[in-house]
Amino acid sequence: MRSQATSLGTAIESKIQRALPRLHAWYRKHHRPLPWRTRPTPYRTAVAEFMCQQTRITTVIPYYQRWMQAFPGWDRLAKASFSRVLRMWEGLGYYRRARFLHSLARAVVRLPGRELPADPDLLRQLPGIGDYTAGAIASIAFGKPTPAFDGNVARVLGRLAARHGKSPKAADLRGLAERMVPPKNPGLHNQALMELGALVCLPKKPRCPLCPLRQVCPSRKRLPSNPRSRPAPSRQVEYILLPAKNGKVWLTQTHPQSRWRGLSFLPTASHRPPGKPRMKITYPFTRYLIQSSVFISSRPPAGIPGRWVRSVELRRVALPAPHRKILRHLGFD
Ligand code: SF4
Repeated sequence: MRSQATSLGTAIESKIQRALPRLHAWYRKHHRPLPWRTRPTPYRTAVAEFMCQQTRITTVIPYYQRWMQAFPGWDRLAKASFSRVLRMWEGLGYYRRARFLHSLARAVVRLPGRELPADPDLLRQLPGIGDYTAGAIASIAFGKPTPAFDGNVARVLGRLAARHGKSPKAADLRGLAERMVPPKNPGLHNQALMELGALVCLPKKPRCPLCPLRQVCPSRKRLPSNPRSRPAPSRQVEYILLPAKNGKVWLTQTHPQSRWRGLSFLPTASHRPPGKPRMKITYPFTRYLIQSSVFISSRPPAGIPGRWVRSVELRRVALPAPHRKILRHLGFD
Protein backbone atom coordinates (compact mmCIF):
# COMPACT_ATOMS: atom_id res chain seq x y z
CA MET A 1 0.00 0.00 0.00
CA ARG A 2 1.26 3.49 -0.85
CA SER A 3 2.09 5.78 2.11
CA GLN A 4 -0.10 8.88 2.67
CA ALA A 5 1.12 12.44 2.03
CA THR A 6 0.56 13.52 5.65
CA SER A 7 3.57 15.48 6.90
CA LEU A 8 4.70 16.87 3.53
CA GLY A 9 1.46 18.49 2.49
CA THR A 10 -0.53 17.53 -0.56
CA ALA A 11 -0.13 20.94 -2.28
CA ILE A 12 3.68 20.66 -2.45
CA GLU A 13 3.43 17.08 -3.51
CA SER A 14 0.95 17.78 -6.31
CA LYS A 15 3.21 20.52 -7.63
CA ILE A 16 6.17 18.12 -7.74
CA GLN A 17 4.02 15.42 -9.36
CA ARG A 18 2.90 17.81 -12.10
CA ALA A 19 6.53 18.73 -12.85
CA LEU A 20 7.70 15.12 -13.26
CA PRO A 21 7.15 14.94 -17.06
CA ARG A 22 9.75 17.73 -17.37
CA LEU A 23 12.21 15.68 -15.31
CA HIS A 24 11.62 12.61 -17.49
CA ALA A 25 12.06 14.61 -20.71
CA TRP A 26 15.27 16.11 -19.31
CA TYR A 27 16.60 12.62 -18.52
CA ARG A 28 15.81 11.32 -22.00
CA LYS A 29 17.82 14.18 -23.48
CA HIS A 30 20.69 14.61 -21.05
CA HIS A 31 21.44 11.26 -19.37
CA ARG A 32 24.96 9.85 -19.58
CA PRO A 33 25.17 6.90 -21.99
CA LEU A 34 26.55 4.43 -19.41
CA PRO A 35 27.30 0.88 -20.59
CA TRP A 36 24.79 -0.74 -18.20
CA ARG A 37 21.98 1.51 -19.41
CA THR A 38 21.83 -0.18 -22.79
CA ARG A 39 20.01 -3.53 -22.53
CA PRO A 40 19.44 -3.41 -18.75
CA THR A 41 19.13 -7.11 -17.88
CA PRO A 42 18.81 -8.11 -14.19
CA TYR A 43 22.44 -9.28 -14.19
CA ARG A 44 23.87 -6.14 -15.81
CA THR A 45 21.79 -3.90 -13.53
CA ALA A 46 22.83 -5.82 -10.40
CA VAL A 47 26.56 -5.72 -11.29
CA ALA A 48 26.37 -1.97 -11.99
CA GLU A 49 24.50 -1.28 -8.75
CA PHE A 50 27.01 -3.26 -6.67
CA MET A 51 29.97 -1.54 -8.35
CA CYS A 52 28.55 1.99 -8.14
CA GLN A 53 27.97 1.91 -4.38
CA GLN A 54 30.26 4.56 -2.87
CA THR A 55 32.35 4.68 -6.05
CA ARG A 56 32.54 7.28 -8.80
CA ILE A 57 30.93 6.33 -12.11
CA THR A 58 34.07 7.18 -14.11
CA THR A 59 36.05 4.72 -11.95
CA VAL A 60 33.42 2.01 -12.38
CA ILE A 61 33.10 2.04 -16.20
CA PRO A 62 36.37 0.22 -17.10
CA TYR A 63 35.84 -2.29 -14.27
CA TYR A 64 32.31 -2.96 -15.46
CA GLN A 65 33.47 -3.53 -19.03
CA ARG A 66 36.26 -5.93 -17.99
CA TRP A 67 33.87 -7.72 -15.65
CA MET A 68 31.30 -8.29 -18.39
CA GLN A 69 33.95 -9.83 -20.62
CA ALA A 70 35.15 -12.17 -17.86
CA PHE A 71 31.72 -12.94 -16.35
CA PRO A 72 28.98 -12.24 -18.93
CA GLY A 73 26.22 -13.79 -16.79
CA TRP A 74 25.31 -15.38 -13.45
CA ASP A 75 26.56 -18.85 -14.49
CA ARG A 76 30.12 -17.78 -15.29
CA LEU A 77 30.32 -15.67 -12.15
CA ALA A 78 28.98 -18.48 -9.96
CA LYS A 79 31.55 -20.93 -11.38
CA ALA A 80 34.52 -18.55 -10.95
CA SER A 81 36.86 -18.98 -7.99
CA PHE A 82 36.64 -16.29 -5.35
CA SER A 83 40.31 -15.36 -5.90
CA ARG A 84 39.55 -14.66 -9.59
CA VAL A 85 36.56 -12.51 -8.59
CA LEU A 86 38.75 -10.54 -6.20
CA ARG A 87 41.42 -10.11 -8.85
CA MET A 88 38.81 -8.58 -11.20
CA TRP A 89 37.56 -6.32 -8.41
CA GLU A 90 41.03 -5.22 -7.30
CA GLY A 91 41.26 -1.43 -6.98
CA LEU A 92 37.50 -0.78 -6.70
CA GLY A 93 37.69 -1.05 -2.89
CA TYR A 94 34.94 -2.12 -0.46
CA TYR A 95 35.68 -5.77 -1.21
CA ARG A 96 32.60 -6.91 0.73
CA ARG A 97 30.65 -5.99 -2.43
CA ALA A 98 32.64 -8.49 -4.49
CA ARG A 99 32.02 -11.19 -1.89
CA PHE A 100 28.28 -10.44 -1.89
CA LEU A 101 28.06 -10.36 -5.68
CA HIS A 102 29.81 -13.73 -5.90
CA SER A 103 27.48 -15.19 -3.22
CA LEU A 104 24.52 -13.65 -5.06
CA ALA A 105 25.53 -15.40 -8.32
CA ARG A 106 25.79 -18.72 -6.46
CA ALA A 107 22.33 -18.14 -4.94
CA VAL A 108 20.78 -17.13 -8.28
CA VAL A 109 21.91 -20.26 -10.15
CA ARG A 110 20.07 -22.34 -7.54
CA LEU A 111 16.80 -20.41 -8.06
CA PRO A 112 14.06 -21.55 -10.44
CA GLY A 113 14.81 -20.09 -13.86
CA ARG A 114 18.37 -19.26 -12.68
CA GLU A 115 17.44 -15.56 -12.53
CA LEU A 116 16.76 -12.88 -9.93
CA PRO A 117 13.14 -12.51 -8.79
CA ALA A 118 11.30 -9.34 -9.86
CA ASP A 119 9.63 -8.79 -6.47
CA PRO A 120 11.63 -6.32 -4.31
CA ASP A 121 10.67 -8.22 -1.12
CA LEU A 122 12.21 -11.40 -2.53
CA LEU A 123 15.25 -9.49 -3.84
CA ARG A 124 15.92 -8.16 -0.33
CA GLN A 125 16.32 -11.72 0.94
CA LEU A 126 19.31 -12.37 -1.34
CA PRO A 127 22.98 -11.73 -0.44
CA GLY A 128 24.09 -8.08 -0.52
CA ILE A 129 20.71 -6.66 -1.63
CA GLY A 130 19.26 -3.93 0.59
CA ASP A 131 16.29 -1.59 0.08
CA TYR A 132 17.99 0.67 -2.46
CA THR A 133 19.48 -2.12 -4.61
CA ALA A 134 16.21 -4.09 -4.56
CA GLY A 135 14.34 -0.98 -5.75
CA ALA A 136 16.88 -0.22 -8.47
CA ILE A 137 16.90 -3.79 -9.86
CA ALA A 138 13.12 -4.22 -9.62
CA SER A 139 12.34 -0.92 -11.34
CA ILE A 140 15.14 -0.76 -13.94
CA ALA A 141 15.41 -4.41 -14.95
CA PHE A 142 11.82 -5.60 -14.31
CA GLY A 143 9.73 -2.42 -14.67
CA LYS A 144 8.24 -2.71 -11.16
CA PRO A 145 6.86 0.59 -9.76
CA THR A 146 9.01 0.72 -6.66
CA PRO A 147 11.37 3.51 -5.51
CA ALA A 148 15.18 3.43 -5.53
CA PHE A 149 15.93 5.75 -2.64
CA ASP A 150 19.62 6.66 -2.37
CA GLY A 151 21.55 9.72 -1.18
CA ASN A 152 21.10 11.59 -4.47
CA VAL A 153 17.34 11.04 -4.46
CA ALA A 154 17.06 12.05 -0.79
CA ARG A 155 18.91 15.31 -1.53
CA VAL A 156 16.78 16.20 -4.58
CA LEU A 157 13.47 15.41 -2.83
CA GLY A 158 14.62 17.11 0.36
CA ARG A 159 15.21 20.33 -1.58
CA LEU A 160 11.99 20.07 -3.57
CA ALA A 161 9.88 19.44 -0.49
CA ALA A 162 11.70 21.90 1.84
CA ARG A 163 9.57 24.21 3.95
CA HIS A 164 10.77 27.22 5.98
CA GLY A 165 14.36 26.43 5.02
CA LYS A 166 14.27 22.83 6.29
CA SER A 167 14.14 19.49 4.50
CA PRO A 168 11.64 16.87 5.69
CA LYS A 169 12.83 13.83 7.64
CA ALA A 170 14.31 10.89 5.73
CA ALA A 171 11.27 8.69 6.52
CA ASP A 172 8.94 11.31 4.97
CA LEU A 173 11.16 11.63 1.91
CA ARG A 174 11.16 7.87 1.49
CA GLY A 175 7.34 7.96 1.54
CA LEU A 176 7.35 10.76 -1.04
CA ALA A 177 9.73 8.78 -3.28
CA GLU A 178 7.37 5.82 -3.07
CA ARG A 179 4.26 7.83 -3.97
CA MET A 180 5.99 9.55 -6.88
CA VAL A 181 6.98 6.38 -8.79
CA PRO A 182 4.79 6.19 -11.90
CA PRO A 183 3.33 2.84 -13.01
CA LYS A 184 4.75 3.44 -16.49
CA ASN A 185 8.55 3.56 -16.93
CA PRO A 186 9.42 3.43 -13.21
CA GLY A 187 13.05 2.60 -14.06
CA LEU A 188 13.41 5.74 -16.16
CA HIS A 189 11.82 7.81 -13.38
CA ASN A 190 14.17 6.45 -10.69
CA GLN A 191 17.22 6.92 -12.90
CA ALA A 192 16.09 10.47 -13.77
CA LEU A 193 15.96 11.44 -10.09
CA MET A 194 19.38 9.88 -9.45
CA GLU A 195 20.87 11.49 -12.54
CA LEU A 196 19.50 14.90 -11.57
CA GLY A 197 21.19 14.50 -8.17
CA ALA A 198 24.46 13.41 -9.80
CA LEU A 199 24.63 16.09 -12.53
CA VAL A 200 22.53 19.10 -11.50
CA CYS A 201 21.30 19.08 -7.91
CA LEU A 202 24.86 18.75 -6.58
CA PRO A 203 25.51 18.58 -2.83
CA LYS A 204 27.35 21.91 -2.44
CA LYS A 205 26.64 23.99 -5.54
CA PRO A 206 23.45 22.91 -7.30
CA ARG A 207 23.15 24.12 -10.90
CA CYS A 208 19.60 25.43 -10.47
CA PRO A 209 19.41 27.43 -13.76
CA LEU A 210 19.79 24.09 -15.62
CA CYS A 211 17.28 22.20 -13.50
CA PRO A 212 14.04 20.96 -15.12
CA LEU A 213 12.30 21.25 -11.73
CA ARG A 214 13.40 24.79 -10.85
CA GLN A 215 9.90 26.28 -11.26
CA VAL A 216 8.53 24.15 -8.43
CA CYS A 217 11.62 24.12 -6.21
CA PRO A 218 11.59 26.33 -3.09
CA SER A 219 15.36 25.75 -2.62
CA ARG A 220 16.56 27.32 -5.86
CA LYS A 221 17.39 30.58 -4.06
CA ARG A 222 18.39 29.28 -0.66
CA LEU A 223 19.37 25.71 0.16
CA PRO A 224 17.69 24.11 3.18
CA SER A 225 19.87 23.48 6.22
CA ASN A 226 21.28 20.00 6.28
CA PRO A 227 21.81 18.71 9.81
CA ARG A 228 23.49 15.55 8.54
CA SER A 229 26.72 16.94 7.10
CA ARG A 230 29.31 14.19 6.84
CA PRO A 231 32.02 14.20 9.55
CA ALA A 232 35.63 14.61 8.40
CA PRO A 233 37.45 11.24 8.15
CA SER A 234 39.57 10.29 11.19
CA ARG A 235 43.28 9.96 10.58
CA GLN A 236 45.09 6.74 11.39
CA VAL A 237 48.83 6.06 11.30
CA GLU A 238 50.13 2.61 10.32
CA TYR A 239 53.50 0.98 9.62
CA ILE A 240 53.68 -1.41 6.71
CA LEU A 241 56.45 -3.98 6.42
CA LEU A 242 57.68 -5.07 3.04
CA PRO A 243 59.60 -8.33 3.59
CA ALA A 244 61.62 -8.92 0.41
CA LYS A 245 64.49 -11.19 -0.68
CA ASN A 246 65.71 -12.99 -3.81
CA GLY A 247 63.06 -11.45 -6.08
CA LYS A 248 60.22 -12.44 -3.75
CA VAL A 249 57.95 -10.50 -1.40
CA TRP A 250 56.13 -11.88 1.60
CA LEU A 251 52.35 -11.49 1.75
CA THR A 252 49.77 -12.35 4.38
CA GLN A 253 45.98 -12.58 4.53
CA THR A 254 45.78 -11.72 8.23
CA HIS A 255 45.10 -8.12 9.23
CA PRO A 256 44.88 -6.93 12.87
CA GLN A 257 41.57 -5.17 12.08
CA SER A 258 40.25 -7.94 9.79
CA ARG A 259 40.48 -5.74 6.69
CA TRP A 260 40.53 -7.03 3.10
CA ARG A 261 39.20 -10.54 3.75
CA GLY A 262 40.22 -12.87 0.93
CA LEU A 263 42.95 -10.57 -0.45
CA SER A 264 46.70 -10.90 0.04
CA PHE A 265 48.62 -7.88 1.36
CA LEU A 266 51.77 -6.64 3.04
CA PRO A 267 51.87 -7.14 6.82
CA THR A 268 51.25 -4.31 9.27
CA ALA A 269 53.79 -3.82 12.08
CA SER A 270 52.45 -3.25 15.60
CA HIS A 271 55.26 -0.71 16.38
CA ARG A 272 57.31 1.66 14.29
CA PRO A 273 60.21 -0.40 12.85
CA PRO A 274 63.73 1.05 13.21
CA GLY A 275 65.25 3.10 10.38
CA LYS A 276 63.80 5.41 7.78
CA PRO A 277 60.64 4.53 5.85
CA ARG A 278 61.22 3.85 2.13
CA MET A 279 58.01 5.63 1.19
CA LYS A 280 54.85 7.15 2.62
CA ILE A 281 51.36 6.81 1.26
CA THR A 282 47.97 8.15 2.36
CA TYR A 283 44.74 6.47 1.32
CA PRO A 284 41.07 6.48 2.39
CA PHE A 285 39.58 3.38 3.98
CA THR A 286 35.88 3.52 4.94
CA ARG A 287 35.70 6.54 7.33
CA TYR A 288 39.45 6.71 7.91
CA LEU A 289 42.33 8.42 6.18
CA ILE A 290 45.25 6.04 6.64
CA GLN A 291 48.78 7.47 6.68
CA SER A 292 51.19 4.60 6.03
CA SER A 293 54.98 4.49 6.28
CA VAL A 294 56.57 1.57 4.46
CA PHE A 295 59.69 -0.21 5.78
CA ILE A 296 61.60 -2.87 3.85
CA SER A 297 62.84 -5.87 5.83
CA SER A 298 64.51 -9.15 4.91
CA ARG A 299 62.40 -11.18 7.32
CA PRO A 300 58.63 -11.57 7.68
CA PRO A 301 57.12 -10.58 11.04
CA ALA A 302 56.95 -13.31 13.68
CA GLY A 303 53.65 -14.95 14.50
CA ILE A 304 51.70 -13.97 11.35
CA PRO A 305 50.91 -16.62 8.72
CA GLY A 306 51.90 -15.75 5.14
CA ARG A 307 53.90 -16.86 2.11
CA TRP A 308 56.69 -15.72 -0.19
CA VAL A 309 55.48 -14.74 -3.67
CA ARG A 310 57.77 -14.24 -6.66
CA SER A 311 57.54 -10.72 -8.11
CA VAL A 312 56.58 -12.14 -11.52
CA GLU A 313 53.54 -13.83 -9.95
CA LEU A 314 52.20 -10.70 -8.26
CA ARG A 315 50.01 -9.86 -11.23
CA ARG A 316 47.91 -12.94 -10.58
CA VAL A 317 47.42 -12.13 -6.89
CA ALA A 318 44.49 -9.92 -5.75
CA LEU A 319 45.97 -7.07 -3.66
CA PRO A 320 44.39 -3.95 -2.14
CA ALA A 321 45.05 -0.95 -4.42
CA PRO A 322 47.35 0.95 -1.97
CA HIS A 323 49.58 -2.13 -1.57
CA ARG A 324 49.75 -2.66 -5.33
CA LYS A 325 50.81 1.00 -5.57
CA ILE A 326 53.55 0.49 -2.95
CA LEU A 327 54.92 -2.59 -4.73
CA ARG A 328 54.88 -0.79 -8.09
CA HIS A 329 56.47 2.35 -6.69
CA LEU A 330 59.29 0.36 -5.12
CA GLY A 331 59.86 -1.73 -8.26
CA PHE A 332 58.56 -5.11 -7.06
CA ASP A 333 55.54 -5.40 -9.37
S1 SF4 B 1 16.15 23.88 -8.50
FE1 SF4 B 1 18.19 23.63 -7.65
S2 SF4 B 1 17.90 22.92 -5.54
FE2 SF4 B 1 15.96 22.65 -6.63
S3 SF4 B 1 16.00 20.53 -7.34
FE3 SF4 B 1 16.76 21.81 -9.00
S4 SF4 B 1 19.00 21.85 -8.75
FE4 SF4 B 1 18.10 21.08 -6.82
